[in-house]
Amino acid sequence: MTQRVFLPWFGHFGDLVRDVLPWIWAKSQPGDIIGGNPLHGPLYPAAPEPRLWAPVAAHYPTGYDYHVRPEALEERLRAVAQDLWPRADILAWAPDSERYPKPPILLPDPHPVDVVLAPRAKPYADAKNGWPWAELARSCRERGWIVGLAGSRAESANVPANVAAWDLDPAGDAVTGTLRLLHGARVVVSLDSGIGHLASLVDAPQVVVYPQRGDERRSVVLRDGHPVAMRFADMHRWNQRLCLPAWGGPSEVLAAIDEVLRAQVLNGPIDAWKGRHLADVPGRPAIAVIREADRSLVMRPGGNDLIETTPLDDRLEAPSPGEIEHRAALCRSCPHYRSGNDQCGLCGCAFVVAERTRSAVARCPGGRW
Ligand code: SF4
Repeated sequence: MTQRVFLPWFGHFGDLVRDVLPWIWAKSQPGDIIGGNPLHGPLYPAAPEPRLWAPVAAHYPTGYDYHVRPEALEERLRAVAQDLWPRADILAWAPDSERYPKPPILLPDPHPVDVVLAPRAKPYADAKNGWPWAELARSCRERGWIVGLAGSRAESANVPANVAAWDLDPAGDAVTGTLRLLHGARVVVSLDSGIGHLASLVDAPQVVVYPQRGDERRSVVLRDGHPVAMRFADMHRWNQRLCLPAWGGPSEVLAAIDEVLRAQVLNGPIDAWKGRHLADVPGRPAIAVIREADRSLVMRPGGNDLIETTPLDDRLEAPSPGEIEHRAALCRSCPHYRSGNDQCGLCGCAFVVAERTRSAVARCPGGRW
C-alpha cells in the first residue's frame, strides 16, 4: 500500500481530540507519516514527525490563535511533505459526516486525585477565559479533596492545587501528565473544551460547565460575536462512565462534584427508571445516575432529572428591553466592565457590551446573566 502522510492539524485542541485524532487512528497504517505537535506524541498512533510540525510552530509560536490567519500554511505543509516523501499520498483532515471510533490511545499510569480541574484561558479573546477556577479550587481543597490541574501552566496561573499536570510530564511531552491525572481522577471538571473531550476519551467521570441550562445543547457566543456549537453530546456519547453538565458558577459546580463523587452509575434503559424513586435503586445509593449513550437520568432523593443531549431546535428569543437593561446594569457595576471601550474584560473579546446584552445567544462569562 502507498505510504501516506497525515498533515498536522493546527486549529483548536478540542477539534484535534474530538475530530482529527479519531480520523487519524481510523485511517493510518504502520509506516505512515503522522503530522502533529511532537509534545502531544502519546495521543497519536506513531510519534509525530517534527519536520512537519516546524512550519506550524513558526506560524503560531505561542500556540493556535484564531485571530492569526493560517494564510498558506496548509500549502507549505504539503510542500514539505512532497519534498520529504515524494511518492506518498498526502492527507489533510477535513470535516466529514463519519463517526470514527474512539482512538485507542495507550493510557499512562494513573495519578490518583479526587478532583481534576481544567482551567482554560487562551491568549486570544474568548468568553470561556474568565471562569473563576481559583475560587472553585480553593473550595474543593477546603473540603479536603485532593485537587489536580490538567492542561498547561500558562492557563492555570493562580489556581491552587495539590498537583499539576506539567510536573508529571516527562521531558519533551506536554500531555502525559494530563492523561495521568484524568486517568486517576474521581471526577474531572472542565468547560466545553479540549480537555473535556480528552476526559471523555479516557472515560473519566466528568462534569462539564456551561453558563445556563440548555447551553450544552445550543450554540453560545464565545468569540467576537460568533455563536459556536457546544459539543456536550459528543463528550456524553464517548464517556462510558459518567458525563454530566453543571450550570453556573463555583457553588453550583461544587454541588455537582459532590454528587458525582457519591453517585452510583447504572446502565440504562432509562425509561424503566423514569417514574421510579431513588429508594428503588438496589443498594440505596445517595445519588444514582442511569446512563444511555445520548442521555442520563439523575435520581436524587428529591426527584429525577433527565439530562438530554440532542441539540435544541428552539430559537432563542431576543431578550426583552427590561432584560437588556438588567444585563447592562449588571455589566456597568461589574469590576470587569471597561467603560472606555464598552467591553467585558473577563472575556476580552471585541464584541461590545451594548451588543452582547442584546444577543439571544451571548452569555456573561462570569455567570451573572
Ligand atoms: S457582568 Fe458584564 S462585564 Fe461583568 S463579567 Fe459579565 S459580561 Fe463581563
